[in-house]
Amino acid sequence: MKGKIIVAGGGHGGIAAASILAGEGYDVTVYERHTQEQMGYDWTDIFDKNGFTVAGMELPPREKYNLKNDMTFIGPSERIKLRQNTDPEKLEIQMERKDIYAHLISQAQKNGAKFVFGCNVEGPVMLGNRVAGIRTETETIYADLVIDAAGLHSPIRENLPAYLGVQNQVGEYERFFIYRAFYNKAAETEEDRFKVYLLREGKLGICWVAAEEEHTDILIGRFAPFDLDEVQRTVDSLRESNPAIGTEKIRGGQFVEIPVRQSLGLLVADGYAAIGDSAFMTVPIIGSGIANSLKAARLLADAVLADTEGAYSANTLWKYQRDFYRNIGGPLAPLACVKLLLTRLKPEELDYIFETGILNGDDMTIDAESTSLSAILSNVTPADLVVKARGVIKNPAVLLKILQLGRQIAAVSAVVSSMPRGYDPARAVNWVKNYNNAFKR
Ligand SMILES: Cc1cc2nc3c(=O)[nH]c(=O)nc-3n(C[C@H](O)[C@H](O)[C@H](O)COP(=O)(O)OP(=O)(O)OC[C@H]3O[C@@H](n4cnc5c(N)ncnc54)[C@H](O)[C@@H]3O)c2cc1C
Repeated sequence: MKGKIIVAGGGHGGIAAASILAGEGYDVTVYERHTQEQMGYDWTDIFDKNGFTVAGMELPPREKYNLKNDMTFIGPSERIKLRQNTDPEKLEIQMERKDIYAHLISQAQKNGAKFVFGCNVEGPVMLGNRVAGIRTETETIYADLVIDAAGLHSPIRENLPAYLGVQNQVGEYERFFIYRAFYNKAAETEEDRFKVYLLREGKLGICWVAAEEEHTDILIGRFAPFDLDEVQRTVDSLRESNPAIGTEKIRGGQFVEIPVRQSLGLLVADGYAAIGDSAFMTVPIIGSGIANSLKAARLLADAVLADTEGAYSANTLWKYQRDFYRNIGGPLAPLACVKLLLTRLKPEELDYIFETGILNGDDMTIDAESTSLSAILSNVTPADLVVKARGVIKNPAVLLKILQLGRQIAAVSAVVSSMPRGYDPARAVNWVKNYNNAFKR
């Protein structure tokens, strides 16, 4: 048997890494606080199904997923709608969260990964500078490597000693507070079946209204917490222009949080690697993190497999850090700048951006392959560019903010590409400091 690996929390990327590594002969156990039946949420998710293939898994049976509808983005004044225009070949899939988990877990178990459900992980066990295991409610468990897949509020990451340089907490404007529920369908929706409202009623955040076969899916996301009275008020006001939203809540109805920021600066320490929401791997503007987590699992597993001495140190896991930033974290970073821009824009400025074509439906088309700013902008034609430039130049306030965005993206890209080639504790901590500073609002 190769090394002993603990996956703390049954996050998607952690289970995928467990699956690959157990298949390669490692002794891997996932410790998850919920029972398998309780895992995940009572709703559907949209993601790139290639995530499964990259993680070496079979695709789920076709009847387990649908293809996603194009989204229609609606500006604050609700005068202008920008509709995505996704190539049908590149559509993401929509699948029940419980089915995603069932699929991941059965694949991992087939490969020999073990699961301990109903086990609350309380924090890391440190031996000197090394993460040597986990503390649960009932015992201390040692391992050669701890993979942290316990989500945004991971008790492992949050309790790592500061000197390791792994960021413990997220800051302001770095997570979305979300309420999501399915309501009964009170009317049919012919067009714009998936509406996404931006800065609606001047509130910093988004709402979506998605018409499905049997229900209407409502999501309210804000940068600050809100309560059920605010949910009721918002749903009632959305209903005025969306008669499909019934008054009966039939599924979901929870408050949750999603990271919407740059990925975690330092992903590794001696005996430790973070993945998924624990490492903030979501697409910063929209909060999708499933496919990135599954793809990161492949990169993490490759670094572990390459460590034939079984050191699992920050030094040997640095390959994961570099590969992740080259393939996923680096391309996502400019989108974290765009999110920051959205928090700086006044509602009327966003309306202006929509109305003058500075942004159009194609720019808002994030498909299975376009989750980086350069991929999204790669289809901009010279004629589009002229329209965008004219719009920007005519509005000094917007021009200033777009210039600021350009400068910030340039600074962020420079920092990302200056990541040390090899691991050195002082240089790594310094790099993380520069990286996080580049995302100052
Ligand atoms: C409302 C909402 C909608 C979303 N929609 C999408 C979408 O459409 N597409 C998409 O790609 N992504 C979506 N996401 C994001 C997606 O859920 C995450 O990015 C993705 O699941 C990766 O996170 P994770 O699995 O690492 O973490 P989590 O989903 O947070 O999973 C962490 C796991 O660790 C367990 N855990 C936590 N603490 C402990 C502990 N102390 N002890 C033991 N176990 C613990 C949890 O029970 C959980 O099983 C959405 C998120 C939310 C909240």
